[in-house]
Amino acid sequence: MTVRERLLAVFLPKRCVFCDTVIAPVRVCCQACEAHLSVVAPPVCMYCGQAKRQCGCAKHRLAFDKIAAPFYYEAAVRDGILRLKRRDDPDAIRYFAERMREVVRREYGDEPIDGLTYVPMTARALREREYNQGKLLAEALGTQLMLPVYATLKKIYETPPQKELDLHARSGNVLGVFEVTDRTVRGKTLLLVDDVITTGATLHECAKMLKIYGAGRVLAVTVAVRRHKS
Ligand SMILES: [Zn+2]
Ligand SMILES: [Zn+2]
Repeated sequence: MTVRERLLAVFLPKRCVFCDTVIAPVRVCCQACEAHLSVVAPPVCMYCGQAKRQCGCAKHRLAFDKIAAPFYYEAAVRDGILRLKRRDDPDAIRYFAERMREVVRREYGDEPIDGLTYVPMTARALREREYNQGKLLAEALGTQLMLPVYATLKKIYETPPQKELDLHARSGNVLGVFEVTDRTVRGKTLLLVDDVITTGATLHECAKMLKIYGAGRVLAVTVAVRRHKS
């Protein structure tokens, strides 16, 4: 958020974290969105993050050890995540972090997590958007969990948007684009934060690099997970 936007925000009405409709100051979202939230109901599959009864995962092929998310990437939640890419809204960041915290406590309650980390953007992409929503989510979640946030990864070059590629191309698209900049990851259990997981290619690549540098366990948490069969 720029200084001008911050000043304007003081005088602007509160808006739904999903659809941007003006809402009462005490609310975080409008009633229509609240009625259409696709919550992931436990028991949850640790491989794909979906409800166990619908996924059919037999084994795990990805580098992170577990994945969990409060929502499915559809309807109001999808709008909310796209909105977060256009606008740095502290209310939305805090709300999504709270929902992720509940999931982390429920799914990873027994895990001795050392700290959080996040999927990086290239320096150029960061200049254009002015913020990395994954980093903001990680910082808000870190505050809520009272755990440190580490900048462990760097994205070396820009890749075509994942949504423009098919499943197979997505894995190749992110291969080798991340490097580990923090050598203290060795032996740590890390909570890897991002806004959404679709095929898992990006989180897989990040977790793979962290493990090459000795990270013990990498637990992924996102705001939303795509609903699909494995
Ligand atoms: Zn709404
Ligand atoms: Zn599954």
